[in-house]
Amino acid sequence: MKRVLVINAGSSSVKYQLLDADSGLVAASGLIERIGEGTGELRHTAGESTQRWSAPIADPAAAFVALGEAFGTYGPDLGAEPLFAVGHRVVHGGTKFREATRIDEHVLHALEELTPLAPLHNPANIAGIRAALARFPDVPHVAVFDTAFHRTLPPAAFTYAVPQTWRDEHSVRRYGFHGTSHEYVSRRVSAIMGRSELAIVVLHLGNGCSACAVLDGESIDTSMGMTPLEGLVMGTRCGDLDPAIPFHMARTAGLGVAELDDALNKQSGLKGLAGANDYRTISDRAQAGDADAAAAIAVVVHRLVKYIGAYAAAMGRLDAIAFTGGIGEHSPRLRAAVLGRLTVFGVEIDADANAAAEGETLVTTSASRVAAYVIPTNEELQIARECRSLLQQ
Ligand code: ADP
Repeated sequence: MKRVLVINAGSSSVKYQLLDADSGLVAASGLIERIGEGTGELRHTAGESTQRWSAPIADPAAAFVALGEAFGTYGPDLGAEPLFAVGHRVVHGGTKFREATRIDEHVLHALEELTPLAPLHNPANIAGIRAALARFPDVPHVAVFDTAFHRTLPPAAFTYAVPQTWRDEHSVRRYGFHGTSHEYVSRRVSAIMGRSELAIVVLHLGNGCSACAVLDGESIDTSMGMTPLEGLVMGTRCGDLDPAIPFHMARTAGLGVAELDDALNKQSGLKGLAGANDYRTISDRAQAGDADAAAAIAVVVHRLVKYIGAYAAAMGRLDAIAFTGGIGEHSPRLRAAVLGRLTVFGVEIDADANAAAEGETLVTTSASRVAAYVIPTNEELQIARECRSLLQQ
């Protein structure tokens, strides 16, 4: 048994899971929200029982004290068996961190230097790591990067056609995100299909959405770019857009950089199109006849279909499509809308399997030339396994 505590520290929340890297069994999980906002909200699940309570949580350090207390009060006892590792999800590894990395002061310093690349995410991740190091000083801590799986992108896919100084001096290139999920899901598809020589498009569709072209086990293109703003239509992010639109809005509406950033990251996507960022809400409204919601879904589907077509061409073939993330796993209607538009690739949906999909499910017929799967992602397990392989080397 290798018990790993996986930590995902955001700007005002800490999500955690205690699991065994060997069996994948989850012993406990929890969420601490509204850190620094007066009253924090906490949830801790151990076995079958879930506790919820409120308490003042001033900062990440206080969150990790509360996390320790949650285990102390509701179990399992973290002292009963030593932790094998603490695994931290880190959003941006730049070009420096291409694999999971054991954390020390030197690594923390290098992560701080990457902050300009991920000004929203990395500082929160770093604060979480520092607080966790203080709480669990005797356990190896490992950083697992959202960008790392995309280390294999070829220059043709990661290069933007911008001035050389932007590329050389300002780190402007595609990095890609959701790598932990794309890696986990593509490995599951390979395991199910029984081979690794596969051209797979993985669609991670949650609040953030990204597509990844995985050829023979390696990411060769992905829709998020230098930041998570590029690509698919998301809950509140616009995804692809003519880069001249921000100039237009600056000139005609007088918007400044901060307002443009906020508009494109937080007021666009589903929210901009139909007033709500939650896909289920939009889907329910579309079913009830709401024209804006239906139009928003049409934009989402069109963008997805374009990316699948582009990635099939980039890989030279298409063997499988995998749906994951809250929307990918739970919206049969969205999957049917996308797969129904892929007859050019010989995709034949199995409507019954798609409607009833639960857990890992094949949702195409045996005659379909491309297999499509629902694969529930498991980023925590992937992080725990990466901790295990790094520390066993
Ligand atoms: P995150 O990216 O924050 O991890 P999730 O992967 O949980 O988020 O995905 C959240 C999205 O999944 C939301 O837009 C939510 O509405 C959507 N979703 C969850 N359940 C369903 C469902 N049954 N039908 C359609 N969409 C769903």
